[in-house]
Amino acid sequence: MEILIFWDAAAPPGFQLPVSRELSNIMDMDVKVLENPLVLNGYTGSRRQTDARVVLDGLDVYKRRLSVAEPVLLVISEDLFMVGAEFLFGLARPSTGSAVVSSSRLDNSYYGRRRDDDDLLDRLCKEGAHELGHLFGLDHCREPDCIMHNPLTLDDLDRKRRDFCPQCRERLDAGVAGDV
Ligand SMILES: [Zn+2]
Ligand SMILES: [Zn+2]
Repeated sequence: MEILIFWDAAAPPGFQLPVSRELSNIMDMDVKVLENPLVLNGYTGSRRQTDARVVLDGLDVYKRRLSVAEPVLLVISEDLFMVGAEFLFGLARPSTGSAVVSSSRLDNSYYGRRRDDDDLLDRLCKEGAHELGHLFGLDHCREPDCIMHNPLTLDDLDRKRRDFCPQCRERLDAGVAGDV
């Protein structure tokens, strides 16, 4: 099973390869990174944010049209929300194998802190692996340091390890095996 990453032109440059390599390690799957071929819809002027569901709708249409069967993780820089959520680090739609991650609130500069490439890389990997975990059938996990723990804040995200807890790992392996 191969995972595709669509890296948007406005997403942090230079992180494509380290993120795809690390995601390949965490997921134990092949990962291919491509330039994002989609035009992003869903910008909502009144909130100055982008509707994550509309972004995933666009990704789903693209995947159907080009018969893309692989799970796709889209990485963008636009700040995401959805109805009922003030903001989102990312969103996954397991039924279609589509997921999106925003770098906006993963970057120290959003919080007025000094920019740090290692922090940003770490968070992109954790958030990316989290959404991919959903695509492979995993739900949220109560272990605070597991990738599948639901991070409500940046500190929650930073507290996690870059790995699945043994239980989630077992489910992931079983889910992927059942997929083949
Ligand atoms: Zn989640
Ligand atoms: Zn877990």
